[in-house]
Amino acid sequence: MTRDCIFCAILDGETEGSFVAATERAVAFLDILPVAPGHTLVVPRRHAVGLVDLDPEDGAELFRLGQQIAVAQWELGLAAGVNLFLADGSVAGQEIWHAHLHVIPRQPDDSVVLRVDYDAPPDRDGLDEVARRLRGALEEL
Ligand SMILES: [Zn+2]
Repeated sequence: MTRDCIFCAILDGETEGSFVAATERAVAFLDILPVAPGHTLVVPRRHAVGLVDLDPEDGAELFRLGQQIAVAQWELGLAAGVNLFLADGSVAGQEIWHAHLHVIPRQPDDSVVLRVDYDAPPDRDGLDEVARRLRGALEEL
């Protein structure tokens, strides 16, 4: 447990949560500020701030469990679509410093807004240069 982490407090039973699922590596509970009924957070049991320190197996479990919850949302009619969303870093919208995956059921005309202002696309050379840099960084991991 990391002190002052609300998700660790929920995982340790010190703070209440409305639990949806639990596995060896991850736990899912409802967001207390849902954007739609069924909005669920999938959280690794082991505290990690974000993607840099998240155990890759825990990350895989977040997606695996998130996928199952999305299917359950569909089956229950809570979702006509689903967004999986993970904010990594404050500029990306992260507010709780324990990595978590949002499973957001969507309905037509809901209040969720995902907005992107696309610039003009780069040319192929620009894409290839960024891809080359990413390949190099991946080799260093
Ligand atoms: Zn934590």
